Amino acid sequence: MLVVMQEGATEAQTEAIINRLVDMGFTVHRSTGVRHTVLGGVGPIDDFDPAILEVLEGVKECHRIVSPYKLASRHFKPAGTVITIGALEIGGPRIVSMAGPCSIESEEQIESSAKIVASAGAQVIRGGAFKPRSSPYSFQGMGEEGLRMLRVAADRHQLLVISEVMDQVQIPSLMKYADILQVGARNMQNFNLLRELGRIRKPILLKRGIAATIEELLLSAEYIMSGGNYDVILCERGIRTFETSTRNTMDIAAIPVLRRLTHLPVIADPSHGTGKRDYVLPMARAAIAAGADGLLVEVHPDPDRALSDGAQTLRPDQFSEMMQQVRAVAGAIGRTA
Ligand code: PEP
Ligand code: MN
Repeated sequence: MLVVMQEGATEAQTEAIINRLVDMGFTVHRSTGVRHTVLGGVGPIDDFDPAILEVLEGVKECHRIVSPYKLASRHFKPAGTVITIGALEIGGPRIVSMAGPCSIESEEQIESSAKIVASAGAQVIRGGAFKPRSSPYSFQGMGEEGLRMLRVAADRHQLLVISEVMDQVQIPSLMKYADILQVGARNMQNFNLLRELGRIRKPILLKRGIAATIEELLLSAEYIMSGGNYDVILCERGIRTFETSTRNTMDIAAIPVLRRLTHLPVIADPSHGTGKRDYVLPMARAAIAAGADGLLVEVHPDPDRALSDGAQTLRPDQFSEMMQQVRAVAGAIGRTA
């Protein structure tokens, strides 16, 4: 249920409506826009008449929302969400680039990666310390020691840090070293983890599950938001189909669909989306042209020796070429990068 307050409604009027909604059994989430305040009421009550609220002082309109997700819906925040971390804005006119190796492997590897990422003009460095590997015998990541190395390298090059959280027990380590917590495709429906991430106050990058629909992705975002953490970034990273030429099938159409359905920023990961480095650049261009707010890309100083995902990881020269081309595409659609 959504209540849109009138332009110029007073704080007292808004408070009165919030209290009324709480009395009716709703949990209320507030979105204060430039013109209108929108109150999202989430609760099990379906059989009420919206007209009862519409006649109250300060209320412009009231809608019963039938969509299964409410806080993630564009109706809740029509202007779109811009997530601010220091000087960085995610979801604004400027395209955000997050890049780095699949895994943190050593101090030298992450330092040299940070240099490559920063000099090409990206703002955020990625690197997994806790790795969700298909085989238990594959490299599993360096853990908290890797995160510490990632933070040191990032700070030296004025970069922000994104890294994956696989389990609730890892949240304190990520809170200490990362600016954005990534939920991987395999964990998109780990509801216990999502609920815990709703309690923290750092942005979450939520990747689309390997076989998840767009609606399921939005419902997973809703889990985090219903806990009070509204800073969720969605990430299209390809889904499993019958096609075998690429590791996954990068669903570019998901980008405009998400932009219509939700106010949350949407970014694209063409590395996991294709699985092959030659296809990363064209899909990065396509994602930005389709309206993505940013990119998450794998780059490594020597990708042929990477401990994970080498085949889809860009060489440094390919990465700087990608950044230049992304700037050109962004300019063509009235954005910057
Ligand atoms: C990753 O970003 O390295 C990763 C494991 O991604 P995904 O969860 O999309 O497979
Ligand atoms: Mn990877």
